[in-house]
Amino acid sequence: MSNGFLRPVTNSSTSYSELLIDISSGSIESIQMIPSRQEVYVKYKNGTQSKVNILVNDPRFLRTVKESNTELTIKDIRNEQFIASSISGFSFFLIIFIGIIFLIRRSTQITNRTMGFGRSQPKIRALDKEQIHFDDVAGINEEKSELQEMVSFLLFPDNYKKLGAKIPKGVLLVGPPGTGKTMLAKAVAGEANVPFFSIAGSEFVELFVGVGASRVRDLFNQAKSKAPSIIFIDEIDSVGRQRGAGIGGGNDEREQTLNQLLTEMDGFGDNSGVIIIAATNRADVLDSALLRPGRFDRSIYISLPDRKGREEILSVHARSKPLDEDVCLKDWALRTPGFSGAELSNLLNEAAILSARSNKKKIVTIHLEKALERITMGLSCAPLQDSSKKRLIAYHEVGHALVAALTPNADKIDKVTLLPRSGGIGGFTRFWPDEEVLDSGLISKNYLFSKLVVALGGRAAELIVFGPNEITQGASGDIETVSRIAREMVTRFGFSSLGPISLDSTNDEVFLGRDLIKKGPTYSQSTVKAIDQQVRELAKTAIETAISLLSPRRQVMDQLVEALIEEETLHTERFLELAGVSPKTNG
Ligand code: ADP
Repeated sequence: MSNGFLRPVTNSSTSYSELLIDISSGSIESIQMIPSRQEVYVKYKNGTQSKVNILVNDPRFLRTVKESNTELTIKDIRNEQFIASSISGFSFFLIIFIGIIFLIRRSTQITNRTMGFGRSQPKIRALDKEQIHFDDVAGINEEKSELQEMVSFLLFPDNYKKLGAKIPKGVLLVGPPGTGKTMLAKAVAGEANVPFFSIAGSEFVELFVGVGASRVRDLFNQAKSKAPSIIFIDEIDSVGRQRGAGIGGGNDEREQTLNQLLTEMDGFGDNSGVIIIAATNRADVLDSALLRPGRFDRSIYISLPDRKGREEILSVHARSKPLDEDVCLKDWALRTPGFSGAELSNLLNEAAILSARSNKKKIVTIHLEKALERITMGLSCAPLQDSSKKRLIAYHEVGHALVAALTPNADKIDKVTLLPRSGGIGGFTRFWPDEEVLDSGLISKNYLFSKLVVALGGRAAELIVFGPNEITQGASGDIETVSRIAREMVTRFGFSSLGPISLDSTNDEVFLGRDLIKKGPTYSQSTVKAIDQQVRELAKTAIETAISLLSPRRQVMDQLVEALIEEETLHTERFLELAGVSPKTNG
């Protein structure tokens, strides 16, 4: 019975006096008393229950119960209360304890981070896997042979020490992005089988002053402890810029880091076994102190690969890719002037992706063509509907191509297409670069002038077909090209009546703080006018030449435009056949 009170359900509230009456009247089945709470739980015969507050040992209550012979039980809940209060006390202390541990751990982490942010975590390259060797770096043979010396020093230091020779402590690799500077540095480490520590210049400079300097110290300590070793600092210009050249006093943190770098390079003795290789594409902004003997005393210039270099780089990257027999890498090297090693590797990779997407087992020429267009012209879009816009683009492109076909020194046409590309390109004409010009690197006045004429062929066609008021801004890119080439012809190459003098004010990015205080052009205002006059003259002659080539061939242009709209793309042979022009033998 008493269990029924363990969780009393109070259905009605009863006053003390009612309780006494109910006990006396015999309507109560049983009562449970909890002395520590001064409560009784009453169970009526009709099933209802009630809780009443009473005084412990109340004689009146006890007497009434006794007289009515009602069942009375006493429940001692002190033990339960003790356990409950112990548990809640323990939980409270546990929570406090966990909280304190958490706070201590966090503050230790913060302290560690604060104390250790100066410690650089240069990547130590594992030597056993993915080692790069000189064989993997193609097309830059002279540069490789320069670095070969470093390798033999790292492998046989005694040979040099015996003869009292000092090996350069630092080598600076200068060249445009993606030309293989990092690869070359890794290849030196790979050939000599020594640890390779690499860090980017920008990683030195952090929010806190002094971090850079401590990172430099730490990096050198790590490298020295593993000597012989290579330290590779990428983008050294971000830390090694000429000091005192910033506007308003410069960047203290960067200068401090640079000073530390210079000190460390002086600090380790000759032939200590640590060689620092740094890479940059802005050697002109480097602090001269970095370049003096004993620091980066050797600079190796890596330029964009020439045609042969591109072919070699393509062959290296084609080693791991199944190429179809019809793919001629020599042709692809010709089609990719100005491509860096990284871009060539990307070209093959894109082609491999395209070939995988079309479930082919080998990379065929069409994949490479699509990949090249994707890289140079952007993603392809859906063909345009036949409209006046499409016709205008067709005349523009036919203008370029027909002028090129009719100009003896111009590059050979590869194809004319009306398939649009992302970025608002409605169509384009692609040329084969002139092999001779590419190989010799010598560009004649005639060749450059032909480039102006071909570039303005599009505008000339618009003028002839649609009249001077309907020409479009679509030729703005061509006009920019013309202005640039014409200005270079006048100011750099001496191809104008101003004579063989250099009137060039360098086109490099402005290096604030240094270039602002540099003197302006060394020529007079009248020369500036004369340059403008000559540039204008060249552009005018070029467009007149283009118009004179196209005007008598209006009918041919119409036929070519119809064919282009019909077929979307015209390749060399088809275009020349329709134009009635014999193929060129040059380029
Ligand atoms: P950089 O340090 O000059 O910016 P990287 O050495 O990082 O250029 O080259 C990027 C990628 O381009 C390399 O991983 C490699 O695939 C490719 N690459 C660049 N130059 C060459 C080269 N001469 N031979 C082979 N691959 C090259």
